[in-house]
Amino acid sequence: MSAELYDVIIIGGGPAGLATAYLCHKYGLSYLVLESGKAPFQGIANTYPQGKLVYASKPKDAPEPFLVDELRPPDKPVTVESYLQYVQHFVQHENLHIRTEVAFENIQDERDCLTILTDKGRFKARKVVLAFGSSIPRELSVYGDAKMVAKNVDDPTKYVGVKTLVIGGGNTAADVVIAILKTKRECNDTQPVYWAHKSEKFDVNKETAQRLGEEILLGGNIRLLPGAQPRIGEVDDEGVDRLVIRINEFKQADGIDLYHALSFPMQNVIACIGSQGPVPIFDKLGVQTISCTAGVCRVAKEGDRLVLLSAEFESTRKGVYVVGGAISPSYMKISEGSIQEEKHPNLIYTAINDAYHVVEAIRGKLGK
Ligand SMILES: Cc1cc2nc3c(=O)[nH]c(=O)nc-3n(C[C@H](O)[C@H](O)[C@H](O)COP(=O)(O)OP(=O)(O)OC[C@H]3O[C@@H](n4cnc5c(N)ncnc54)[C@H](O)[C@@H]3O)c2cc1C
Repeated sequence: MSAELYDVIIIGGGPAGLATAYLCHKYGLSYLVLESGKAPFQGIANTYPQGKLVYASKPKDAPEPFLVDELRPPDKPVTVESYLQYVQHFVQHENLHIRTEVAFENIQDERDCLTILTDKGRFKARKVVLAFGSSIPRELSVYGDAKMVAKNVDDPTKYVGVKTLVIGGGNTAADVVIAILKTKRECNDTQPVYWAHKSEKFDVNKETAQRLGEEILLGGNIRLLPGAQPRIGEVDDEGVDRLVIRINEFKQADGIDLYHALSFPMQNVIACIGSQGPVPIFDKLGVQTISCTAGVCRVAKEGDRLVLLSAEFESTRKGVYVVGGAISPSYMKISEGSIQEEKHPNLIYTAINDAYHVVEAIRGKLGK
């Protein structure tokens, strides 16, 4: 059976993606949002501190009002929790089509449409809107497939009774270690948490270090693995996907190196190795970027690579549009035969208004 052909597939269910979805819904375009998180606005849920107020900020020189009022944060700032709750109701009320826990991977050109490859299968669309924001989780770059490794801990009780490996040297990794140690302690589980980092020094702030120290003194069983390198994702004889992490290496005079490694079932591994901008994804998709040179860019730094877009946010890959945080803080706009850097502040306002312009452009092209 061939997959349903959508007018528009939207990658990411943040402000830009949901505004695109809402406008497609309003104008009768068939669409589907693919969101890697557990719920719409997962990017905001992950990055805003608890209780943070959400402002309806608008750049000073911006000529347009908010073009999708339904997703505009209220004038009187509300907490991120209230805004998220409002958005959930809005999605339900409008019955917006969103598939959660689907991670976008690539796009293939077909004769008359685009095929979108994800970790949950393929989807087909006439147009694709990339609305995956500015912070893309880094992948473990190891030989073999290590995609099953978790990037955060949603339920620490999953790790009770098993030896767990947390990878990463910063505050996020430390917070995950603390949460699992605490849960294990409360459940009288003596299995350790291994905490690995590729460099010799962990780098956490004082407050996090204090909480970690407290957890260890209360009986947390932790094994530190500084200088450890994840090397291979492999499947063992019993069919279990495992991650092999090298913990030290001895160079021998005869050229045959000796090393010690630990192998963990991938389902017991959490990699908190930070996020990166979207440029590696643009490269993978063959979407053209331009490097900034001194004197040309006003916002970006020399050497930064900015995505090249038409005035309607279409990329150099036909039928593929990019909106919202994914193109902030600036991009290269092709306009009337010239290319210039265009400021694009990373705000809910810009994300929503990009969506409006892209849906207008797509409606024009599809005649809807
Ligand atoms: C701490 C903080 C406070 C802020 N406060 C404000 C404020 O008060 N007012 C304001 O206007 N702006 C604020 N911003 C900025 C604002 O949140 C962003 O401009 C806005 O979220 C951008 O929307 P977006 O839809 O482009 O990206 P995002 O909100 O990042 O949404 C992208 C979505 O795509 C999903 N995704 C990522 N990769 C994939 C993939 N491979 N497959 C499928 N889905 C994927 C993510 O899970 C996410 O849900 C703040 C930002 C931060 C970090």
